[in-house]
Amino acid sequence: MTSKEYMELSEQNVLHTYNRFPVVFEKGEGVYLTDADGKTYLDFGAGIAVFALGYGNQAYNDALKAQIDKIIHTSNLYYNEPMAEAAAKLVRASGLDKVFFTNSGTEAVEGALKAARKYAYLKEKEAASVSGAMDGDAAGAGHMAYEIIAMNHSFHGRSVGALSVTGNPHYQEAFRPLMGGVKFAEYNNLESVKSQITDRTCAIILETVQGEGGIYPAEPEFLRGVRALCDEKDILLILDEIQCGMGRTGSWFACQQYGVQPDIMTCAKALGCGVPVGAFVLSEKVAKASLAPGDHGTTYGGNPLACAAVSKVFDLFEEQHIIEHVRALTPYLENKLDELVAKYDFLTARRGKGFMQGIVVEGRPVGEIVSKALENGLIVISAEGGVIRFVPPLVIEKEDIDEMVRRLEKSF
Ligand SMILES: *Cc1c(COP(=O)(O)O)cnc(C)c1O
Repeated sequence: MTSKEYMELSEQNVLHTYNRFPVVFEKGEGVYLTDADGKTYLDFGAGIAVFALGYGNQAYNDALKAQIDKIIHTSNLYYNEPMAEAAAKLVRASGLDKVFFTNSGTEAVEGALKAARKYAYLKEKEAASVSGAMDGDAAGAGHMAYEIIAMNHSFHGRSVGALSVTGNPHYQEAFRPLMGGVKFAEYNNLESVKSQITDRTCAIILETVQGEGGIYPAEPEFLRGVRALCDEKDILLILDEIQCGMGRTGSWFACQQYGVQPDIMTCAKALGCGVPVGAFVLSEKVAKASLAPGDHGTTYGGNPLACAAVSKVFDLFEEQHIIEHVRALTPYLENKLDELVAKYDFLTARRGKGFMQGIVVEGRPVGEIVSKALENGLIVISAEGGVIRFVPPLVIEKEDIDEMVRRLEKSF
């Protein structure tokens, strides 16, 4: 079938929740994709910050094929080998202590929120039993510290829980009432966060680098300030590293460059490099006093196929020195983007960290530039606030950056 026929077949049968670009990708090689009509595209989107390793990575493909031939699924009623290995590698890379595997980023956020509420619930229950108070209040549905502070312009997913902490009223509007007990603060504004804290606050959730919201890295004083507030009041810090984690900013997780360790971290996107998988990772403190058997579960989460992907991704990142590569090439990418901002009046700023970059467009619709780029064989993505987002596979080389700039300028 031609691209056009595939598009028509999709329009007939797939629920229209996305305005898709008129292209059907068929295969990939390195940092290039090919569509069903044979046209090639330089990919600076990586399936929304997912495919870090480049397409057609033989070692990755072989690991998945080998696992398919062994076993794909067993359920969480049993242990499985890839999960044991993947969890150990994620624990080591994150510096945290316990992992729960999910099937998506959204589910990782859901789990993190539940873990935070359970932690506060148990803490109150224990305090009540020590003080001899009636445990009715703490043990009942209306326990005290259930509030979660999230950030304006954040993105954490589309399920009801994750949507409730997503600071974008446009996404929330039709689905109210959402999960209660959520307050919003200004990102990179410590006073704003402080003003939302009450004795009911159990957690603060934020992206270390805001992605969908327009590529805003946390300022170091802000992130460290939030950590200090959390420590002072025994509030849990949940860092969403779904987009900015897994090497994208030049360290396993972006928070490591700030010297800030969360109590819970969420992870997905590049974690499995294309196989649907996410995780939330907890510190020992939270792990031993939050979710317990019966509190949370998933049929697929942590299945052998997904975890074989995760495990291999960690190995390949090390063997191929992916993080070192990102660090080495970041100044080159930043320079090239800065040159564009200097050259074109309608580009007003560059923001970002590592291979998660955005340039701000003013006075022109970003969607048109992104569409034009696609016509010219370049994949870039938009983000909120008129931003062209660059989240390429982490294996791009200088010549790919040069080629990206050529194709982008042609699209201006
Ligand atoms: C993509 C994303 C999510 C949601 O992940 P899904 O896998 O789409 O469910 C959550 N948080 C952040 C920061 C993301 O970028």
